[in-house]
Amino acid sequence: MSRIALLPEDVASQVAAGEVIERPASVVKELVENSLDAGAHKIEVMIRRGGSSMIRVVDDGTGMDRDDALLCLERHATSKIRTGLDLAAISTLGFRGEALPSIASVSRFRLTTREHGALAGTDLAVNGGKIEYVRDGGDAPGTQIEARSLFYNLPARRKFLRTENTEGSHVEHQLHLQAIGHPDVGFVLINDDRVIHQLPPAANLIERIRDLRGAALAAELLEVADEEIGGIRLRGFIGKPGVSRSSRAHQLIFINGRAVENPTVNFALREGYHTALMKGQHAVTFLFLDMDPAAVDVNVHPAKREVRFRDPSEVRDVLIERIRRAIQGGRREWSATFSTPAAASGLKPEFPTSGPVHDGYKEAAAESAPPLIPVHEQVTLRQDWAALPIQPMAEPAMPVRLEGSPKPEADFRILGVLGRLYILMENADGLVLVDQHAAHERILFEELRRRMETQGVPAQRLLMPVTMQLSPRDSDWILQNMDTLQKMGIGIEPFGPATWKLDALPQFLKGYDPAPLFREIIDELRETSATSSRLRLGEDVIATTVCRHAVKARDVLREPEMVRLIQDLLRCELPYCCPHGRPTMIQISYAELEKKFGRKA
Ligand code: ADP
Ligand code: MG
Repeated sequence: MSRIALLPEDVASQVAAGEVIERPASVVKELVENSLDAGAHKIEVMIRRGGSSMIRVVDDGTGMDRDDALLCLERHATSKIRTGLDLAAISTLGFRGEALPSIASVSRFRLTTREHGALAGTDLAVNGGKIEYVRDGGDAPGTQIEARSLFYNLPARRKFLRTENTEGSHVEHQLHLQAIGHPDVGFVLINDDRVIHQLPPAANLIERIRDLRGAALAAELLEVADEEIGGIRLRGFIGKPGVSRSSRAHQLIFINGRAVENPTVNFALREGYHTALMKGQHAVTFLFLDMDPAAVDVNVHPAKREVRFRDPSEVRDVLIERIRRAIQGGRREWSATFSTPAAASGLKPEFPTSGPVHDGYKEAAAESAPPLIPVHEQVTLRQDWAALPIQPMAEPAMPVRLEGSPKPEADFRILGVLGRLYILMENADGLVLVDQHAAHERILFEELRRRMETQGVPAQRLLMPVTMQLSPRDSDWILQNMDTLQKMGIGIEPFGPATWKLDALPQFLKGYDPAPLFREIIDELRETSATSSRLRLGEDVIATTVCRHAVKARDVLREPEMVRLIQDLLRCELPYCCPHGRPTMIQISYAELEKKFGRKA
């Protein structure tokens, strides 16, 4: 007896709809994409009760004639591709011809549409996949689609909808994606009669970002210059170092105008930011990647959320390089804010005159140890603080570029130390706080990397070598990273089965208990290898771990060490964050202070 039967059309549609239409936000996505494909200049989205009760999208695009209005409800009916060949190079947002029939099969659906210049439009309604009526309609040119009572005929699916608030915020996120992706199009979002967004067409991307996400976020972004390398054009904005979020929701990337999620891209962003991104945090990006449509396959996921690159490694390399360059370029801007000439002030700096001196930094700077910065760059330390060159305030403070400034430290005036950790300074903009611990880590990190590339870090033999037993897996990590460890000044060698002998440490870690340091290095290697690349993995993990150990918070720095620390920090490649991505310096401007003290609204 045969057991196979063809499904009735309406059931088949519901099955198909399940893939495309997951929740109200998917309806909004598909409808807005259609409006964009129809060349709309203005798109209005209105929802009720998170979209579960009603979703309406109104556009001023091309509209459809009567035949198309009926045909668009059929499955696999599309105006966007014609043959299988077209699938290989898709330049529209839609192409599957599935969205409208899917939506119509799981909601009470109404479509009104009119072509520009047409005398009459079409008004039709579909209920659970069956056409209820078709008649002339008289609305403005464009298309208006309404989906009420989503999943009313699929109780199982309806049960899976979350609270109105949650569904509403998914809709909002979807609208953000489309609005960022198409700054030249005006968008309106209305939720239960409340206007959530009213976005006029924007002149450019940053204006749209400002309108949508606020000036504060826009000010925290770096521009990625519009440039094409090897057929891959990249442009947009990314968060400055230290700007990050705990979720990927703020990491927007558009490939040929389509918001997508792609592991290659995620990986490249992380690599590009490298030490400028805190562990476990995600970058904030508004990036546009444009390339030959034939080089990306968008026909991977029913909701078109994923893409595949023909040559992922090329995309990855271009992205990494461009992000890295943008971040390096951000250094100039950063220095400009942090190096404006200091305001005149009668305050006398106060320094701790007793107490233990910070070992790590002192050691590194001391005569006996090799100097941390090349000798020709060493600057004689100023003792006469009051005599620091101070520009009169009358003259408008001109931002001075650090690179051109012979003594960048002259732009700051050290006021004292807070909690034995934060160095307080003033500059023309107000107060500057330096986390001396983070600053020191950054300096050491860059120095270690420089040394590893050249002669290696000087090692110091341990008086008492330590032997450690490690699991086979951990032993493997060590074997793989032997070279790096050696260059880092860490001497280790096999000492019997699964046993290792540790007999040297970097000089600046003299007197340090080697066992805990080593355990930590292994832990970090193990953890990072799961999430990051293998390219520079070993080197950086080891360097950051060593840095963390070399620097102990809450140690007291004396005045000359403090000056030296600031000097060294300002010379770093990425001075604004420690190798773990945390900020090294924070500026609190006079404007912020005045606001806090209620002097200014
Ligand atoms: P796809 O977008 O993949 O082609 P859809 O089911 O989303 O499939 O839409 C089917 C067709 O209906 C589209 O190809 C397009 O021709 C037409 N259409 C849909 N929405 C609109 C709209 N807002 N304005 C003009 N035409 C539209
Ligand atoms: Mg579509």
